[in-house]
Amino acid sequence: MRFTQPSSARQLNRLRTLNLIATGEDLSRADVSRLLGLNKVSTGEIVDLLIAEGMVSESGTRTTAAGRRPVALELQKDHNMVMAIDVGTRNTAIALVNLAGEMLRFERFPTEKKPTPEHLAALIIQGTNKFLSRMKDPKAVTGMAVSINGTVEPATGTILQVPQWGWESVPLAYALSKHVPFPVIVENNVKSMVLGERWFANLEADTTCFYVNWGEHIGAAFLSKGTLLLQDCQFGHMPIGQSGRCHCGAFGCLETLAAGWALVEGYDGITSVKQLCTMAESDSAVAGDLLQAAEAMAHALIYAAAILRPQKVIVGGGISALPERYFVALREAFQRKAPPLVSSTTRIERTQLGDRAGILGTAAIGLDEFVFKRSLLEQLKHHQA
Ligand SMILES: [Zn+2]
Repeated sequence: MRFTQPSSARQLNRLRTLNLIATGEDLSRADVSRLLGLNKVSTGEIVDLLIAEGMVSESGTRTTAAGRRPVALELQKDHNMVMAIDVGTRNTAIALVNLAGEMLRFERFPTEKKPTPEHLAALIIQGTNKFLSRMKDPKAVTGMAVSINGTVEPATGTILQVPQWGWESVPLAYALSKHVPFPVIVENNVKSMVLGERWFANLEADTTCFYVNWGEHIGAAFLSKGTLLLQDCQFGHMPIGQSGRCHCGAFGCLETLAAGWALVEGYDGITSVKQLCTMAESDSAVAGDLLQAAEAMAHALIYAAAILRPQKVIVGGGISALPERYFVALREAFQRKAPPLVSSTTRIERTQLGDRAGILGTAAIGLDEFVFKRSLLEQLKHHQA
């Protein structure tokens, strides 16, 4: 569920100030006033308000060229927290995250093969209550964000579809919010990962970026000038192969060649791509399968890049942690086969967030919605520009 948006200029200036203090270092009131173009009186009032709220403190001293020592403003990073729940196909992660995005608590349990909405919600509530019961001040938690590999209607937090589980129209945010003492939002997992990249890996707002979540399944999202497009991108189901039967009902989808579920198929006793990578060190046939997966991914990325023309492709998700040689193969195949105009303008990168991309992205969704509203401020900026 999305909650009331700040409307008055004062609320917006409070948010701008809060975000500036959170992302800047050692800023004084005078710095805030100058950087935001606010007069000193308004800045003073807003800073006083943030201090009264407990969000910001004034501490330490700072030496300037002029020799004066104004006090620096600092975010009180443990004043509020959010719960982040990343429901993956293999594992579900629960984290308690402070305002600086630091994980104060983290727990992970295997996701069932085909969970029912009721059972998954019960596990999330159970995990959350366990976290809350160990906190000195559970009221410091301002909200919960849940990411899931499905189509989500963000305004209501209703999951429209999770095809691999047969879920349809599940009002997850509503159901969870009846059992936890704070608001809940639900978001598509790839959208969360892109926001995580923005918050924690310095992906710039105006970069045009195609983000691929390469894991048990393959999802993608497209970020264009700060706006996320492609809510229901079927990138994993582009026909790249010849024959393999996909769970979606089609044949030859990218997933049948490169998704985690397809890669482990046909290997007895192997359940993860990580195990396959270890096997591949001494078995060239396995290594060949992984190289073929990298090549298939490169092919699909060429199609996506030719149409969307992103400056950057970021590859995240569990399989993005493949040994370097496979990622090199992916990049080389892209360079070799893409039209020069595409290969010369699109860079392919791995996420810098590693296997924490999912949970950090979920944390970013929560921090953005319940505390900082950074994406709202950016949208307003674009409107003015
Ligand atoms: Zn498919």
